[in-house]
Amino acid sequence: MKLDFLTLYIVILLNSVTVAIIWGAISYRYRNFSAARIWLAGCLLTTVGGCVLALQGNEGSYVPAVLGNGFVIFGFCLFWIGVRDFYGLRGGWKASVAVTMGSLLLLVALFDSLQGRNLVYAGGQSVPLALAAVYLLRFHRGDLGAVIAAFAMVVGMAGHAVESFLNIGLMLGRVDQDFYSTVESYALLCVIFSGVVWNFGFAVMSIDRLREELAELAIKDDLTGISNRRHFLAMLEKQDLHARRNLQPFSLMLIDIDHFKRLNDTKGHAFGDRILRRFATTAGGSVREGDMVFRLGGDEFAILMPKTTAREAELVAVQLIAALRGARGWEDGLDRFTISVGIAEWSADMALIGGDLTIEADEALYRAKANGRDGYAIAGLENRKNMGPAQVASLFRNDAAGQKIG
Ligand code: GH3
Ligand code: MG
Repeated sequence: MKLDFLTLYIVILLNSVTVAIIWGAISYRYRNFSAARIWLAGCLLTTVGGCVLALQGNEGSYVPAVLGNGFVIFGFCLFWIGVRDFYGLRGGWKASVAVTMGSLLLLVALFDSLQGRNLVYAGGQSVPLALAAVYLLRFHRGDLGAVIAAFAMVVGMAGHAVESFLNIGLMLGRVDQDFYSTVESYALLCVIFSGVVWNFGFAVMSIDRLREELAELAIKDDLTGISNRRHFLAMLEKQDLHARRNLQPFSLMLIDIDHFKRLNDTKGHAFGDRILRRFATTAGGSVREGDMVFRLGGDEFAILMPKTTAREAELVAVQLIAALRGARGWEDGLDRFTISVGIAEWSADMALIGGDLTIEADEALYRAKANGRDGYAIAGLENRKNMGPAQVASLFRNDAAGQKIG
């Protein structure tokens, strides 16, 4: 039994409205999510296109056929532009206008042939679908929603391909009219169904993206933008497990800004906030690749240094202290400030989950403070204050020569 085309156009319209409502709600709730707005526009255009196409009835009158197809094809292009936007790529507008205008010109040129019209309709929709599917498969990074959307688009294109073969077969007299009408209507139904599915794929992609952003927020410190205590504890546990498995030490540096309360009290809380941000940036620039900087709270920071002994961590501490001491040209009114650092190296006999390591680093930090601040101390070693990188390097040389340090 063949399906009535007018009914199919109405189904296109209803489906597009349904999906548009979903994208409308998502765009309304998440104002910064631009891909949702583009997909909403795509749904609205296909809805308008469905309405206009429905006006042509089963016979296909000129203006609604051309206009309706124009809206639907550009609507499909918007789905591709939305996919680009989702993956942080701008543009695609000129290509979309070119695909739509090219399709419309062909449609006008071939309007007298129903088969020609159908071929243009199928081709015009398949180009943006193919582009969107390629982008989804290229950038999906294991995202289930993207795979669903790409799969649905391939199904949509397959529907269009069946339609196109039937139209060519009919033009060549290889397919009889009854068979053509029946199969073509089901192929179109398949395209309509795939449209709903790829929009659900987009919705799954969006949920995953929002979940990722939420997870990122949960481990980020609001003020400085670096990782927070929650992330620190998770990473410390991970390092601890890794070190136990591989018997490879790592080091922890605890850092506290000196006399921060005084800075806060004399220059204001906002000034204190700028110092905290400044420290986060300077620390991020002083550590090596793989080292992780965290703000534990207040003016306390930590640096986790995988595959690093306390002696190697010492060099980083010296560089960080020197970077803060030597800082010049910071923005208005931002005085230089100093820090105290406690360093501890993991060892296999420490209690699980790095508890002992934190206590040792904290004790070292306390010693650095007690020793007059603006310096560092290493757990298990005597305080070292005011050493420059060259002096620390010479310690390394002495060590290599078998001399005891500390
Ligand atoms: P010390 O040299 O012994 O570390 O002295 P201190 O004055 O730095 O003492 P402490 O580390 O205990 O001071 C922490 C201060 O940090 C207390 C609190 O007012 C301030 N603080 C905590 N969180 C924030 C914040 O988000 N912004 C600002 N501006 N200040 C904060
Ligand atoms: Mg402090």
